[in-house]
Amino acid sequence: MEKSGFDWLNVLLVDDSVTILNYVSKVLEQSYNINNVHTASSAPEAMQILRQSKQINLLFLDLNMPNVDGIQLLSQISELDYKGYVVIMSGVSTQIISSVESLAKTYGLNYIGTLLKPIHELDFQYIIDKIGGSRQKPTTVESLKVYEIIRAVKNNDLEVLYQPQVELTTRKFIGVEALCRMRHPRLGMVSPDRFIDKAEESELIIHITLAVLKKSMSDWKKWRQAGLDIKLSVNVSPIALQQIEFADTIFMLLNDYNMPASNLCIEITEGILANDSAQELVNLNRLNMRGVELALDDFGQNHSTIERLQKLPLTYLKLDKSYFIDNKDNTNQLALINTSLSVAKDLNIRTIAEGVEDNAVMSLVTEMGCDFGQGYYIGCPMPAKKVFNWQREWNSLT
Ligand code: C2E
Ligand code: MG
Ligand code: MG
Repeated sequence: MEKSGFDWLNVLLVDDSVTILNYVSKVLEQSYNINNVHTASSAPEAMQILRQSKQINLLFLDLNMPNVDGIQLLSQISELDYKGYVVIMSGVSTQIISSVESLAKTYGLNYIGTLLKPIHELDFQYIIDKIGGSRQKPTTVESLKVYEIIRAVKNNDLEVLYQPQVELTTRKFIGVEALCRMRHPRLGMVSPDRFIDKAEESELIIHITLAVLKKSMSDWKKWRQAGLDIKLSVNVSPIALQQIEFADTIFMLLNDYNMPASNLCIEITEGILANDSAQELVNLNRLNMRGVELALDDFGQNHSTIERLQKLPLTYLKLDKSYFIDNKDNTNQLALINTSLSVAKDLNIRTIAEGVEDNAVMSLVTEMGCDFGQGYYIGCPMPAKKVFNWQREWNSLT
């Protein structure tokens, strides 16, 4: 995350627990460099601050406070004509939360998400991603230095978040994509676009790939033990695939975590199709022969030819999020999506739409015959522990 990226945010935290107020302020400041943080420990105090400071544009609101409940407070806030973002913090059941969420929307509030108590530092990424995604992001982000990446790998400062994928026609939860984050002593939680490219300039990416594989397989094993049978998708860089022992390493890990090969999906990018390194193809084919699935990520960013697509035993094509985010109403764009879907169909490859940010895109891709969806509308990247809660909530909505 850009250090100065969120200096335009002016936050008001409302909670009757001082511990929570301190904790949230600390995370916002240390992880996201958000320093403009006001706090209120009661509803009247919050209302007073909101009336006085028209600059507040991000509100974290506890649902359970003495005297005034969260619902009353939401209604009072809507009367103030507050136009900023609203995040709910709560420990109450997800059932109640979802009705409060729809209430917030009915009041015309710009509700962006809920932090379930106990709040984990990683949960904030989901809120920040949403805010960042709805604003113009800087086109180039400064890369971390090599020593910073080495330090993170050595100190085990890599975290993995999981973003759910669902089957579009049935809305069934089918799997998660593992997405890497780095905990940085000064910058807080850093997103992969600041360190993956740099790591790919050396063998550091191999260490990152291994760390992500181990962490995510271990989380997968816990889900499995708790009765969840889903697919795990992991992004693998071409550098890792060029290692002679890559496929064998995966087989060993599958064995260690007692994971069937068919539950693992490796996401690769179009770059791999363009160069003809035999070693990558050998690894990918060996993996596929054992049942590991392959997905071609970010499809549509470059122009892959059909011959190239046929070079690999692909199970999925992931349509890049730019198809759906930037100019989804453009007829050219729709034609492109249609072409990609029919190419995939001809080749017997299933399709996953990335960047499903709202209900309109969800309906569009379902109608166009795409098989699976992934995006903020369905679920943002979340820590492993939150996957069950997400699933419960998702199932209750469908
Ligand atoms: P990707 O594999 O295409 O992952 C999807 C990215 O889109 C994720 O960004 C995700 O947070 C974001 N996204 C998901 N839904 C939406 C949505 O509805 N709207 C918008 N605007 N964005 C959405 P993230 O986590 O920042 O990852 C960025 C890229 O970093 C990934 O793109 C992947 O190429 C790379 N990456 C992440 N983890 C790893 C890893 O462990 N290894 C390698 N080699 N690359 C990784
Ligand atoms: Mg991916
Ligand atoms: Mg992608």
